[in-house]
Amino acid sequence: MVDASGDSKSILLVGAGGIGAPAAWALALAGVRALVLVDEDAVELGNLHRQILFEESGVGHSKVVALAEALGREAPGLDVSWFEGRAAPSTVAELVGRAGVVIDATDNFPTRFLLADAAHLAGVPIVHAAAVRWQATVLGAAGHGKPCYRCLFEDVPSGALLDCATAGVAGPVCGVAGAVAADRAIRILDGDRTAVGTIVTYDGLTDRLRQIEVHPRANCALCGAEATIGTIDARRYTNAVTCE
Ligand SMILES: [Zn+2]
Repeated sequence: MVDASGDSKSILLVGAGGIGAPAAWALALAGVRALVLVDEDAVELGNLHRQILFEESGVGHSKVVALAEALGREAPGLDVSWFEGRAAPSTVAELVGRAGVVIDATDNFPTRFLLADAAHLAGVPIVHAAAVRWQATVLGAAGHGKPCYRCLFEDVPSGALLDCATAGVAGPVCGVAGAVAADRAIRILDGDRTAVGTIVTYDGLTDRLRQIEVHPRANCALCGAEATIGTIDARRYTNAVTCE
């Protein structure tokens, strides 16, 4: 049972889709008490294969509302609240600042970098989870000597990238990403420092699950000794798409 009472122990889950839905379910059934959902999209028929907890009857309705209702049925003791909208430069600090840990289950790089920056600046640990085709990747990040998202990926990429619309994503791979992200978030709330500073990758074609230790990058713009990112500047978060 995770003690998630009070804002500092709540989990902020950004993205209620292919990764967010299974992550939310895992968190609810694990005994997490407080969950805040953020998403701006509606349930779509073509996404139901990976966005478990949604039903055909919910198509067209708000994802966060549909997910909150489903979680209410599965885990009545869970305190679920939601923000129907995008994690934007103007809203992210308030959302992240209240959380004990953030799960980034979003579908685009600008929002990933926005969440990474906001979490680091607020001193809140964050778990980034992504999936495309048969590959899932989960990174647990935090300050205090541990790497951040920008230590690995530096800046918002530009140009043509793989996304769900063109590359596709296997539903079970999203489930793995969501489950690993939920596991990490719970461990972080429990004070387990081994839950940050590593990447877990899963290959759905070979069943290979790997854990790779990563280290802070000395010249990282966010967490390095001479970091240049000290505030949320909306101009940093533009460009291309990714997958969830
Ligand atoms: Zn860094």
